[in-house]
Order: sequence, then C-alpha cells, then structure tokens
Amino acid sequence: MDTILELRNLKKYFKTKRGIVKAVDDVNFEIKGNEIFGLVGESGSGKTTVANLIMGIYLPTSGEIKYKGETIFKLAQKRPKWLKKEIQMVFQNPASSLNPKKTIRQILELPIKIHRPDVPIQKTIYDLLEKVDLPTDYADRHPDELGGGEKQLIAIARALATEPSFILLDEPTSALDVSVQGKIINVLLKIREEYKLTYLFITHNLSLMSNVANRVAIMYLGKIKELANVDEFFKNPMHPYTQMLLSSIPVVSDEEEKLKPKKIVSTGEIPGALNIPPGCSFHPRCPFVMDVCKNKDPDLKDLGNNHYVACHLY
Ligand code: SF4
Repeated sequence: MDTILELRNLKKYFKTKRGIVKAVDDVNFEIKGNEIFGLVGESGSGKTTVANLIMGIYLPTSGEIKYKGETIFKLAQKRPKWLKKEIQMVFQNPASSLNPKKTIRQILELPIKIHRPDVPIQKTIYDLLEKVDLPTDYADRHPDELGGGEKQLIAIARALATEPSFILLDEPTSALDVSVQGKIINVLLKIREEYKLTYLFITHNLSLMSNVANRVAIMYLGKIKELANVDEFFKNPMHPYTQMLLSSIPVVSDEEEKLKPKKIVSTGEIPGALNIPPGCSFHPRCPFVMDVCKNKDPDLKDLGNNHYVACHLY
C-alpha cells in the first residue's frame, strides 16, 4: 500500500510564561493507505497536538507533514480545497461538534454542497444516514433530540459527506456510554471497508487498539516510545512504559492473564510537560533505569519485524 500520511521530525513547542512546553518533540511515522494506525498515550502525551498539527489547527515549530507526497504546512483555512475534502476529523465530543440550531439535513448538506456540488443532495443525505445505520427520517431532527452515540454517528456521516480518503478519529468513543461504544466502532470498521478509508485513531485505550488497529504507536511526553504491527506489539511489548500500560489492563480470563506482561510497577510521578526529565523522559518512573538513561535520550530504533523502540535496554 502507498503511504498516505508522513510525519518527519515533527516538533511543536509552545512558549508559556513558565517556559517552553515541548508538546511534540521529533515525531516520525507514516500511515499507509487503508490502514488503521493507533496513536496511544496518556493525557499530556502530545497525541492531540499531533492531531491538531495534521488538521492545520497549529503550525509546526519545525519538521514536515506530507499528505499523498505533498507537504502540507498551511493552517486549515489556507489549505487547498482538495485537501479539505480528503482529510476529515471526528472529534471526541459530538455534542460540541454539531451545531444545535441546525437540523441534521442542514449539517450534512453543507459539506456536500461545498465538496460534491454535482451529486443529488437529498439522496446523498439519506445514503449517508443509512451508511451509519441511522433512519433516514433523522434528517429533520436536531442534534439535541439524539442520544450521544447517535450524535457521534451524525459526526461520522458529516465526515463521510466529502468522500474523504483519510479520517482522523480523536477519541471517538471515550465520551460515550459503554453501551454504544461498540456500535460506533462497528460502523467505523464497516465504512472503512466500503470507502477504502485510512484512519489515524487517537486514543488512551490501548486494549481497544488490539481489536481495531493494524499498527500501534505509544507516545509519552511528546515522543514516540514504541511502534509496531498490532500482533507484534501486543505479543512482544518491549518498552518498559508499554509493558507498564499493558500490565495494568484488566482481563477477564486466565488465558488473557497469561498473555499479559509481568506486572511493571512505576516508581515515580508523571513529570509535567514543563519539566520533562533529561535523557529518557521515562527514567524517573522506570524500574530498569540505568545511568545512561539519565543523560542520553534513546533514539527510536528498528529492532526488526517493523518493531521500533526507544530504550537503552535494546
Ligand atoms: Fe527505562 Fe532506560 Fe529504557 Fe528509559 S531508556 S525506558 S529509563 S531502561
């Protein structure tokens, strides 16, 4: 598969009164066509800043983002129309991403009119509602008349309305009731097949990625710590931070318990973004810390089998 999106040496630093925040610090990865790439991290890891850089909400401090081989460095409003059509985003909170004063019909017709002026609008709206498993008579409702999961399905239909190739999913289920999360995931997987979509799935939910993603990357304090194909990632987690996260995921069966890494206990507090530790930023929390870890930041190394790890243990 061809590469759709490439991030090269991407940095985003914010100047604050208390110092520089290195929200994204030299991040590199690429996403292939029709892939689901899971970008996982705790709050403050920088994953949402990566999303905002891709969407043109921020400009990078340095580095490059390429979409289908073309460098995209402009803010969203200055980007060419073809790029706005190609890249869409589904936000965490559907309630705040849908205008409550508009009907679903009005919400869906705007992107169709802008990006696909030649298609029949009413039929396309009904098709979109059917694609996300909602009744067509929802077209005349307002977002406030819908449940949280239904609102998110409308947000997905709106993203689909431009016929994009790439959708950035920013925690699309985490604000929703557990009972509807599975439904949202199923719709996302179904439309990905139908439309040959590529997803960047940003989440703090590592176990969800084991069922959904093709590849997974872990971010910690602005950097990628580990990146691998999903099977390799969950069978052979190598970075102590990944092992710590995986060892704390609750399991329901003895078989799953056997597959979990040995319990890794973190030894320190999570540092703030303003005082990122020198060397390996995980060193104050790492049970395997060595002297070199306190001074030298490990590079993200290819250890074979498309498995990349940033750790002095390897
Ligand atoms: Fe732990 Fe050192 Fe590896 Fe960082 S580089 S994760 S401190 S062993």
